[in-house]
Amino acid sequence: MHYQADVLVIGGGAAGLSLALRLADNYKIHIISKGLLHDGSTVYAQGGIAAVLADDDSVESHSTDTIRAGAGLCDPDVVRFAVGRGAENIEWLIEQQVPFTPSDKQAGHYPYHLTREGGHSHRRVIHAADATGRALETTLEQRLREHPNIRVYEHHIAVDLVTSQKLGQSGNRCLGAYVLDRRANWVDSFTARHVVLATGGASKVYLYTSNPDTSTGDGIAMAWRAGCRIANMEFNQFHPTCLHHPKAKAFLVTEAIRGEGGKLLLPDGTPFMEKFDPRAELAPRDIVARAIDHEMKRLGSEYVLIDITHKPADFIKRHFPTVHQRCLEFGYDMTREPIPVVPAAHYTCGGVMTNLHGQTDIDGLYAIGEVAFTGLHGANRMASNSLLECLVFAQSASEHIQSQPRTGTDLVAIPSWDESQVTDSDEEVVVTHNWHELRGFMWDYVGIVRTNKRLQRAEHRINLLLHEIDEYYGNFRVTNDLLELRNLAVVADLIIRSAISRKESRGLHYTLDYPQPDDRHAPKNTVLTPENYQAR
Ligand SMILES: Cc1cc2nc3c(=O)[nH]c(=O)nc-3n(C[C@H](O)[C@H](O)[C@H](O)COP(=O)(O)OP(=O)(O)OC[C@H]3O[C@@H](n4cnc5c(N)ncnc54)[C@H](O)[C@@H]3O)c2cc1C
Repeated sequence: MHYQADVLVIGGGAAGLSLALRLADNYKIHIISKGLLHDGSTVYAQGGIAAVLADDDSVESHSTDTIRAGAGLCDPDVVRFAVGRGAENIEWLIEQQVPFTPSDKQAGHYPYHLTREGGHSHRRVIHAADATGRALETTLEQRLREHPNIRVYEHHIAVDLVTSQKLGQSGNRCLGAYVLDRRANWVDSFTARHVVLATGGASKVYLYTSNPDTSTGDGIAMAWRAGCRIANMEFNQFHPTCLHHPKAKAFLVTEAIRGEGGKLLLPDGTPFMEKFDPRAELAPRDIVARAIDHEMKRLGSEYVLIDITHKPADFIKRHFPTVHQRCLEFGYDMTREPIPVVPAAHYTCGGVMTNLHGQTDIDGLYAIGEVAFTGLHGANRMASNSLLECLVFAQSASEHIQSQPRTGTDLVAIPSWDESQVTDSDEEVVVTHNWHELRGFMWDYVGIVRTNKRLQRAEHRINLLLHEIDEYYGNFRVTNDLLELRNLAVVADLIIRSAISRKESRGLHYTLDYPQPDDRHAPKNTVLTPENYQAR
């Protein structure tokens, strides 16, 4: 099948949904997601969205906190741009009727409750109890499904972008994408004047992750193959506190618990965070995750504890209903006892390089949300700044698309997908085996604490896997698992290469061989350039 629209949006999380809604009155939109629309990370976001909303807060203060967390690599202009647009984006969400938790008057005159999270010097995180992402996603999805100009294609996984360069034409413009219809099991072509990658992050490259199965870095890998530069992939954030239980599949215990005075304890009940940072539990995530990793390795323990029992049971149930309920399902009552937690891969700070309008290196191709590298997060993302980034860059990319003339970017026909040289796979085990191997060595060798030796081991393994997967891809019909594995391998390679090239510890990248930041030179982003890159 061949589909045409003004705008093709790949991804149905906070970034993709808000961009689609902002454009839908004037453009025909196709939005695709590889599972159900809401299967991405957005729905799992518990804490909330950071924005300057309280009377005693300021853009300057939020920017300063963000830049401080970013350890020398935030782009100050991008930070001020994103933070400066926060309040108007929250207003927009309120207009869409996202049900934020009302104020209990502790945060001045603002009508919604604002909480405080690690690294933030003010209460500025607006939330819908502890299920903010679900409230946001459900509300926007409802608006989207009501809109006559938006067509939703679920269970459709983008295979690759189609560009004029790939078709041997001059320049490099994105013309659309090949998309596998997972249920019909064939590859469709989608053409559009503007293509938007909103595919989320890549934390699934690690064995333990707080992310859903969709976070396989597809957008980053597709953009790389199409000729886009990718930056700062060594900065993967590990969330310090996921519930430790064999059946919990990395269920996240929100940061807001530490914001409300929750204490981290060793299994014997001893507090330890003050040994690592004067801000103790309110230190940024990387410091907390590393402290936990250090203590777990030192003691050979499988977990540490988090304790919020100093708060009344009523408060805990009201503010953390999801976590409370989920813990009960696993036999822990957080109103009466500390609960066991471990770190897990959580957020991809690097990604497809974009400017303030979400434009990538390829004409007509935008990247917004976690897939993008905008310069906002630097070497470390501050809690709740990522939903903010999704919203702000969805807004600015939509403005840019609307500023483009509607003539002169005619839809170009894409040749049909060619399956004449491939057959059905005879050995699916290659995919499952490589999938487990990749995520295992990424966890062991390229995780929270790195060394030169570990990175070299990982480099050796990824080179073998890339070769094997490429060969497999060339011979067999594509499946969802094969496409995700192929993308994970590209992302793993980009992370390893970036980590090897950074000869210092900074933000989320920590290596025992260079344990300090290199302050002899101004800090630089790690920018990887593909062979087929063409400067615009
Ligand atoms: C447990 C958890 C808690 C979090 N808490 C917070 C928080 O409190 N505050 C905050 O700011 N951030 C939080 N984050 C981070 C934040 O939720 C994400 O960064 C953000 O939701 C990403 O949104 P997105 O739109 O970029 O991508 P996602 O929401 O991940 O959506 C990606 C979409 O792309 C689709 N997709 C991917 N690849 C393809 C493909 N090849 N073809 C078709 N479709 C594809 C997926 O199906 C999905 O629809 C949290 C993340 C997690 C996992």
